[in-house]
Amino acid sequence: MVFRRKPDEVAVMRRAGRVVAEMHAVCREATAPGVTTAHLDRLARDVLDRRGATSNFLGYHGFPAVICASVNDEVVHGIPGGRTLEAGDIISIDCGAIIDGWHGDAAFTMGVGEISADDDALIETGRRSLDAAIEVMHVGNTIGDIGHATESTAIAGGCSVLRDYTGHGIGRAMHEAPDVPNHGKPGKGRTLKAGMVLAVEPMVVAGDPEVAELDDGWTVVTADGSRAVHWEHSIAITDDGPQILTLL
Ligand code: MG
Ligand code: MG
Repeated sequence: MVFRRKPDEVAVMRRAGRVVAEMHAVCREATAPGVTTAHLDRLARDVLDRRGATSNFLGYHGFPAVICASVNDEVVHGIPGGRTLEAGDIISIDCGAIIDGWHGDAAFTMGVGEISADDDALIETGRRSLDAAIEVMHVGNTIGDIGHATESTAIAGGCSVLRDYTGHGIGRAMHEAPDVPNHGKPGKGRTLKAGMVLAVEPMVVAGDPEVAELDDGWTVVTADGSRAVHWEHSIAITDDGPQILTLL
């Protein structure tokens, strides 16, 4: 069942989304050569505590942290730990927050210190894919329109999107119906209606979209070792157009 949220419910989700955006901001600020991914997780936990929010990542199927920190060829679900970031790395940080039972979920990718022009272009292509997806999130368009906008933007940037992982509805739970694939045909799939809230999350790779899971049971890496980025917002569809909830 696909829920349609009332404006007051979306307002609480926006509060949760702001906490997520604040977690992003502190992690972005602290990301530098020499910093461990565990340190970023601690900073994100501090934001949750300060804002009276709880994590929808910690304990999710046993996940041990409040952020996913995925570095270089890691696409999603990287576990924060003792890994020290180095100049030239790229890191994707995905995290969420719960306020009064309502969820937010968002991700971004950034470079660590000086990065290559190729990695910079990859990060930009991922960001543009998400922007293009959000642009078509109008009442009367479809889930297929979102996927088409996402994938065609990635392809135009010389990249490809993961097909094994999708975005999702979000609300009282982090993952609700419907799935929101990062590929699709224009006009196909479920029609977008006011009140639907979707987490759209392009996972864009520089090489082949084939992936593998590491022995830790979580980390998803590209099979060919090419680099990957992950961009996500939680977005409410309204009669006045898409509203991004995971912004400061
Ligand atoms: Mg996420
Ligand atoms: Mg998500």
